Amino acid sequence: MKRIQERLNALESQGLYRKLNVFSGAHGTKMILEGREVLLFCTNDYLGLAADQRLKTAAIKAINDYGFGTGSSRLISGTLDLHEKLESKIAGFKKKEAAILFNSGYDTNCGTISTLVGKGDTIFCDRLNHASILDGARLSGAALKRFSHRDTVSLEKLLKKSSNASTRLVITDGVFSMDGDVAPLPELSRLAKKYDAFLMVDDAHATGVIGKEGRGTPEYFGLEGEVDIHMGTLSKAVGSIGGFVACSSEVKKFLINRSRNFIYTTSLPPAAIAASLEGVSIIEESPFLREKLLKNATFLRSCLCDAGFDTMTSELHIIPVLLGSDSVALKANQLLLQKGVFVPAIRHPTVPKGGARLRISLCAGHEKEDVEKVLKAVIETGKELGVI
Ligand SMILES: *Cc1c(COP(=O)(O)O)cnc(C)c1O
Repeated sequence: MKRIQERLNALESQGLYRKLNVFSGAHGTKMILEGREVLLFCTNDYLGLAADQRLKTAAIKAINDYGFGTGSSRLISGTLDLHEKLESKIAGFKKKEAAILFNSGYDTNCGTISTLVGKGDTIFCDRLNHASILDGARLSGAALKRFSHRDTVSLEKLLKKSSNASTRLVITDGVFSMDGDVAPLPELSRLAKKYDAFLMVDDAHATGVIGKEGRGTPEYFGLEGEVDIHMGTLSKAVGSIGGFVACSSEVKKFLINRSRNFIYTTSLPPAAIAASLEGVSIIEESPFLREKLLKNATFLRSCLCDAGFDTMTSELHIIPVLLGSDSVALKANQLLLQKGVFVPAIRHPTVPKGGARLRISLCAGHEKEDVEKVLKAVIETGKELGVI
């Protein structure tokens, strides 16, 4: 145990020690942190649905009708009519034949990737793909090839060399979680076809946010039907909890039979399923929420660039402010907190060494004055730290 304390001390001295911030109150743009109200620019609740009255009412009704727990896994007695209803709703929303739920987005990636490919197969991963994709890939036993971020030339080189793989699977985040940029889906899809590979897109940050009807990256590029495995989470824009893949019914049946993350765990509670059903309906009916979110993001990003910050290749509602050093990023987070604004410092290993940053994420609940407040606070902080 002495070794553990030494490792903790090392993290602390490198500016890499992480601790939990404990908030109180309903999730929203303003919450109470250590007795003080702070303005949040960190949530993935992009459309502000997590504490929406309609989701709460749906969840309460489900608790009254079904109780809280489900008592068993999906293959025993844990599949309620509600689970099936949500799976068909997601399949319809994503314009795929079928959809299958997992208990989280993390589980979805681990449980899908590790089941669909294995020894003798090859996975091609963007270097900045989410940790859950990497974990699923490692678990699968397939060979893992990582291509440079959004670099389809680097991908093609790897695909060319993979002629003896029995199955090839190309996986990318649709919108990258720490950079806020978009995968080059048209070219990825062309290469997947050319090299007879399956294409999987993780749309955790795009579902409900991009595409005219909020269906995510394939809709954004007009490529619906080109993505074999369309993964998403219900815990971000949908405002609830759980993950899913939209896929063919064959893939769904195979995952039901083989995915350990699906089989060996108790199913999601009815309250969560009912809230997700409501969240997806709101996304379908409320284009103005994503329009407001993206408009605020464009405004904030251009002001930050004008002020001299490096917002990297961000295009959407996630805006990195590159600072480089882990300790400067942490200091920036603390200075912002003193000004009543919470923006997380993202450090190694979530981002590469030297890539520490503030990660500003916007949500539809932010008003113009909130955006102006974070802008002013980040500029003041940048000056105090001598980075602009
Ligand atoms: C958040 C996230 C996940 C995991 O989703 P959870 O529902 O939070 O477990 C998976 N992939 C990406 C890209 C994410 O950002």
